Amino acid sequence: MLTSLKGKVAVVTGGSKGIGAAISKELAKNGVKVVVNYNSNKESAEEIVKQIEAEGGAAVAIGADVSYSEQAKRLIEETKEAFGQLDILVNNAGITRDRTFKKLGEEDWRKVIDVNLNSVYNTTSAALTYLLESEGGRVINISSIIGQAGGFGQTNYAAAKAGLLGFTKSLALELARTGVTVNSICPGFIETEMVMAMPENVREQVISKIPARRLGHSEEIARGVLYLCQDGAYITGQELSINGGLYM
Ligand code: NAP
Repeated sequence: MLTSLKGKVAVVTGGSKGIGAAISKELAKNGVKVVVNYNSNKESAEEIVKQIEAEGGAAVAIGADVSYSEQAKRLIEETKEAFGQLDILVNNAGITRDRTFKKLGEEDWRKVIDVNLNSVYNTTSAALTYLLESEGGRVINISSIIGQAGGFGQTNYAAAKAGLLGFTKSLALELARTGVTVNSICPGFIETEMVMAMPENVREQVISKIPARRLGHSEEIARGVLYLCQDGAYITGQELSINGGLYM
């Protein structure tokens, strides 16, 4: 049976652009009140909120660097103040600092682990009490094909994204009886700033290896999130790969 999302409340970390913005809009379109979190890009987050409101949805933008636990806690508390509850936590905020391991400094190692992995501890631990109060709480972690298959020059990012997969399964086990589901989505190469920042020749090479012969769209990831929220009561601890067949 489809879970009605009307009146549910979601936090989408890194909702100000790319995949996070698409997730925010897709959830809002389906009746979810959305907190669009951003780190530095207040204007883009406010633009996403405007777009959601223009379509009759409800959203607020809240700034917080989720790699810091106090800021993540404030984000969750401000969500509760704004909308009175929290049902869906989408841990989407992420960055890359690609370097081959030989050249990878400690700062780039730590920063990527902090933003992509430690942030998920920060937000999820702050949100847990509220998720347990929800009927059918959802935690959705945006991992990556790189966490599954590895990536050249991406030891830091791959470690963080693979860490999310282990976190997802363990928390799913712990929460299964409560009705809160915990899943990961592993996007392949999606047409966002993160991927468009690659040199064009490298991007073309990547596309030539994707069985579907194209990059994915942010909306295709957003619909995966919607599916897990709406139809995922019996799906927990899973990795949903949305990658055009690039990793099977
Ligand atoms: P993007 O366009 O670069 O957007 C990243 C988002 O994360 C922005 O909203 C950014 O906010 C936010 N963010 C970064 N650091 C943050 C922090 N410390 N605290 C809070 N928010 C922070 O990236 P994207 O391509 O949409 O990627 C979204 C997620 O999907 C990431 O986790 C990424 O690793 C994953 N992913 C992407 C791809 C892909 O092909 N694009 C593939 C696999 C996985 P500000 O702009 O305000 O700083």
